[in-house]
Amino acid sequence: MPSCSAIPGPVRDMVGYNGKPPKVTWPGGARIAISLVVNYEEGSELAVGDGDPMAERVLSESAVRPWPAGKRDLAMESMYEYGSRVGFWRLLDIFDEYQVKSTFYVCAVALERNRKAASQIRTRGHDVVCHGWRWEDVTLLGREQEREHIRKAVASIAKTTGERPLGWYCRYGPSVNTRELLIEEGGFLYDCDAYNDDLPYWTTVGGNKHLVIPYSLVNNDSRFASGHFGAPDSFEEHLRYTFDRLYKEGATLPKMMSIGLHMRLAGHPARAQAVAKFIEYAKSFPDVWFARRIEIARHWQEHHA
Ligand SMILES: [Zn+2]
Repeated sequence: MPSCSAIPGPVRDMVGYNGKPPKVTWPGGARIAISLVVNYEEGSELAVGDGDPMAERVLSESAVRPWPAGKRDLAMESMYEYGSRVGFWRLLDIFDEYQVKSTFYVCAVALERNRKAASQIRTRGHDVVCHGWRWEDVTLLGREQEREHIRKAVASIAKTTGERPLGWYCRYGPSVNTRELLIEEGGFLYDCDAYNDDLPYWTTVGGNKHLVIPYSLVNNDSRFASGHFGAPDSFEEHLRYTFDRLYKEGATLPKMMSIGLHMRLAGHPARAQAVAKFIEYAKSFPDVWFARRIEIARHWQEHHA
């Protein structure tokens, strides 16, 4: 292989745990840690009214279709608004009903536009991961601009939720600078900008040990928007199959299962019912731990450092 030292960003790791993942001892001897994640993005997506050159095009009920630059898309804006106005509250109520805690990936500007929701996230026991200043593609930002947006996001979320976020997750994917910037800024325990494992792992960035808690675009309601899921029970079945496999493997090697939700997608009644039914199913088994990501991070720090 030619040397890759001239290429910026992390060195790829095709090996990981090399078929021998650590034997995790989750609290209570759980066979599986389930991380429910709600993406709070509504109000920070691309919008002409916010000075963007174009309207948001993806992750909604509408098929992706061309739209003239510089023109507001009021239908799209409205579909996003459903998430923060209705879907948010429905998902929170389901979590309360089943007494499970989740993690919110929050975009700072989105929470600034819904202070009541911001205050409810922590009041109702959920934790917060920073999902950017706005819901933006950070690969389009310069290094210093990205640093500035990280700073603004952290300051804003500390104010709206009352707590500084300790985790980070970009829209879709990080830039080659993101992880370095998080370490340079300090105060982050982990990031979720990876899809390459079933378990958390340590990586090294500029000589510093850094914790990664991988996320999932597979167990994710975004696949309703891409047409992979149609009927709500297709999503529920997918989640059950994932759970069944990991639960079986977890008898000897405990696992982690991330589930990604969006308020404007899974917050609609039929899909929310699929989420509720899955939670009920998973809770019918012993040794299942519904964990906030900060709990997973702290556990990993304590037991797998
Ligand atoms: Zn997201």
